[in-house]
Amino acid sequence: MPTEPTRSPAAGAASAAVDPDEVIRFARGLLAAASENPGGTEDEAAAVAGEILASLDAETTVVRGDAERPSVVARLGSDARPSLAWNGHLDTVPAGSLDTWSRPPFAGEIVGGRLIGRGACDMKGPIAAALAAAAAIRRAGVELGGSLVFHLAADEELAGLHGTKVLWDRGLLDQDAAIVGEPSELQLGLAERGGAWITATARGKAAHGSQPQLGVNAITSMARFLLRLGEALPDREHPLVGRPTVNAALIEGGSAPNVVPDRCVVDIDRRLLPGETDPEALLAPFRALAGAIRREHPDVDIDLRIREWTDAAEAPADSTIAAVARAAVAAEAGTSPPDVGFTGITDARFYINDARIPTVILGPGSLSDAHAADEWVAVDELVMAARAYARIFVGFLGA
Ligand SMILES: [Zn+2]
Repeated sequence: MPTEPTRSPAAGAASAAVDPDEVIRFARGLLAAASENPGGTEDEAAAVAGEILASLDAETTVVRGDAERPSVVARLGSDARPSLAWNGHLDTVPAGSLDTWSRPPFAGEIVGGRLIGRGACDMKGPIAAALAAAAAIRRAGVELGGSLVFHLAADEELAGLHGTKVLWDRGLLDQDAAIVGEPSELQLGLAERGGAWITATARGKAAHGSQPQLGVNAITSMARFLLRLGEALPDREHPLVGRPTVNAALIEGGSAPNVVPDRCVVDIDRRLLPGETDPEALLAPFRALAGAIRREHPDVDIDLRIREWTDAAEAPADSTIAAVARAAVAAEAGTSPPDVGFTGITDARFYINDARIPTVILGPGSLSDAHAADEWVAVDELVMAARAYARIFVGFLGA
């Protein structure tokens, strides 16, 4: 491989062949195929992506797990090594209440250089950019030396268990490197936090609401605990993803307005740093906090258990795919992108933690505009992403 494969004549030709109108057409087609999760399926979006892939003569299959949700797997180029996976999820979060949007969420309107819609940056826009890159490579007459595999997955927004996880279970994550196109502002994402959902249950003693002194109020006990949750966070910081966080997310308690509640249950979302892998070590400071409160208020009785655990992930910064991606973005943007971390959880963890594939998270748009009303991505950035992907595909796989 030459030292600067992303600046080879073939890579330059592929980048130059990216058609901005085609990028927008692909993005609008995907946006119009609503795939809200929860609330819908990815079938229509998978069909739109499938049509685009068919027009590129890709070998395409739809993989469905037990929940019957469709993930599109497509191969372009030869079946030789190296192979590169490009992953994007077909589902989106729900549009939410329409009156919070200034434009309709599935129309793909462009206002002031911004493409607006549910999924514009997270992540139908990035999928459009990657497909347009493949189309450009073909238009430029460049034959890829290895295989480019698209994993357009279902169900990422609700943990990916019916999408990329199914691809992993079926042995389909076996490439030499992977790109997960989540919106990273075209910075190089190399780490992401994980998460633990902790269920905290406060137990009290029911009594008549007119004689609260005869009972133990579980809601009051829980309140004492929740106000001090931050004390259960370790003093740790990761250079890319920052610090761990904790959020009291869901609460339930009480049975009637005139009864002292004997039970209060809260779901706590504790985000994990790479390296935090021991559930008992994670729970220990929460248990210590409950113990400290109990010493001041002996009636406080809080049970803690973990009901869901997702490891954080960290990919090597010195992999070939990281070097190629840096060079490709630098060739398009003029400056090398910084290494960054993701605060949220993405399907990159299946490639990094399960399949042990060198991976980067790289896509247009910003996570801070995702999941919000008027979600958008800059058209210029979408096109730049398509050009950078074209250089990466040619640079990594050879021509
Ligand atoms: Zn996403």
